[in-house]
Amino acid sequence: MFVDKVRISVSGGRGGDGAVAFHREKYVAAGGPDGGDGGHGGSVILRISDHLSTLLDFRYKRKYSAQAGANGQGRNMSGKRGENLIIQVPRGTVVRDAESNQIIVDMSTGEDFVIAKGGRGGWGNGHFATATRQVPRFAKAGLPGQARDIVLELKLLADVGLVGFPNVGKSTLLSVTSNARPKIANYHFTTLFPNLGVIYVDEGVSFVMADIPGIIEGAAAGAGLGHDFLRHIDRCRLLLHVVDVSGSEGRDPVADFDAICAELKNYSVDLSDRPMIVAANKCDLLPPDSDNLERLRQHVEAAGCPLYEISAGTTQGVKALMRVTAEKLRTLPPVTVYEPEYVEPLPPTGDSSQLEIEHLGSTWVVSGLWLERLLGSINFDDYESRNYFDQQLRKCGLFDRLEEMGIQDGDTVSIYELEFEYQK
Ligand code: GDP
Ligand code: MG
Repeated sequence: MFVDKVRISVSGGRGGDGAVAFHREKYVAAGGPDGGDGGHGGSVILRISDHLSTLLDFRYKRKYSAQAGANGQGRNMSGKRGENLIIQVPRGTVVRDAESNQIIVDMSTGEDFVIAKGGRGGWGNGHFATATRQVPRFAKAGLPGQARDIVLELKLLADVGLVGFPNVGKSTLLSVTSNARPKIANYHFTTLFPNLGVIYVDEGVSFVMADIPGIIEGAAAGAGLGHDFLRHIDRCRLLLHVVDVSGSEGRDPVADFDAICAELKNYSVDLSDRPMIVAANKCDLLPPDSDNLERLRQHVEAAGCPLYEISAGTTQGVKALMRVTAEKLRTLPPVTVYEPEYVEPLPPTGDSSQLEIEHLGSTWVVSGLWLERLLGSINFDDYESRNYFDQQLRKCGLFDRLEEMGIQDGDTVSIYELEFEYQK
C-alpha cells in the first residue's frame, strides 16, 4: 500500500526537576545547598532519508515522544539529558500544522528540523546559594516539552511528471528511459503508487521523471484514484502528457487530451499552466488510414504544446523526446521548495492572579502555567525576545503585586531558571 498523507503527534521530552540537597560530610555540621539541575528533555527531530519512498511506517505508529530529562541529584549532579528522537521521512515530505494546515517545513533540502523542542530542566537549589540566602530549600521543576499535531504529506521531487489516461504507456515510457521498473500491464490502474526514474540523456545531463497512477475524468473531484496522486506532480517543472494516438482502445486522442487538461485545471490552475510536451504514443499501432496523429498535432499545437511521435513499445522516437525534454528543462526554474507559512503563536497573555508567588527571605519565587508557557517560547539570547518577555511581565501586573506584597529594591525575583535583582 502507498501512504502519502498521515497525521501524527510529536512531543518533546519533559525537562528533569532540579534537586533540593545539602552537602554532607563528616565533621561539617551544615553544608551548603548542592542540588543539581534537571536535564533538558530530548527533542523530536525530522531527518530526510533517501531510502524511504512512502509514509507507510507512520500508519502504524502515530505518537512520537522524545525522552524526558532526568532529575538533578545531590552533590551538584545534573540530570542526564533526554535522548533526541529522530524521525526519518522520505525526501519531499511537506510538514503542516494540523490545526491551521500551514506549512511548517518542507523536508526537501537535507537539513534536520526540530519539530518538537524538549522542555528545559529546572535548576537545583545549588543554583540559589547566595550570601543572603544560605539555605535555599527550593528547586525548580522541569518544563514540559513542546507537543503538537502535524500532518506529513509526501510530494515527490521530480522534474517531469507523466500524465495521461490509464494504459496509454506512461509506465512503459519510464521503464525504457530509466532504471525504474514500474509495473506494466495491459489493464487500467496497474500503477498503484508513484515511481521515480532518473533519465541520463548525456554526460552530466539527467532529470527525474515521475510516473503516477493514471488520471481519469473526475479524478480532480475525488472520483478516482488519480486525485490523491496529483499532488506528486505539484512540484514538477514540466508535464509530459502521454496520449495513445493509435486509438487502440477505441478512444479519441483529441478528446483524451482535452479530458486530462480539464482534470489538471480542476485540480489546480497552477498545475495546468505548467509547460507541457505531448508524446503521441503507440505510433507503431497507428492504422495507415488514420488521421488521429494529424488531428492531435493540430489540436495540441494550437494549444501551444509541441508534439513528438513515439512508440514506447519499440522505443522509436523516445531518445529524441528525452533530449528535447532535457533541453526544455534547462530553461525552466528549479523544482519548487515550499516556504514555511507557519509562525509560532505567541503564548496567551495572562494576569498576575494566575501566578503563584512564594516569599522566601529576600527571594520571590514566581511560578504558574502561563509563565511556564511564556518562558518556553522566549529565546533569551535574543534582545527582541527578552524585551517581549519583560513587557509581558509588566503587562500582567506581576510587579504591582510584588510591590503590594512588600518587595524591596535589591531583592531577588526567581522565575523558573531565570533570576534577577528587583529594581523599581
Ligand atoms: P500506463 O497505464 O499509462 O502506465 O500504461 P502501461 O505502460 O502500463 O502500458 C499499457 C499497455 O500498453 C501495456 O500492455 C504496454 O505494453 C502497452 N504499450 C505501451 N506503449 C506501447 C507502444 O508504444 N506500443 C505498443 N504496441 N504497446 C504499448
Ligand atoms: Mg502505469
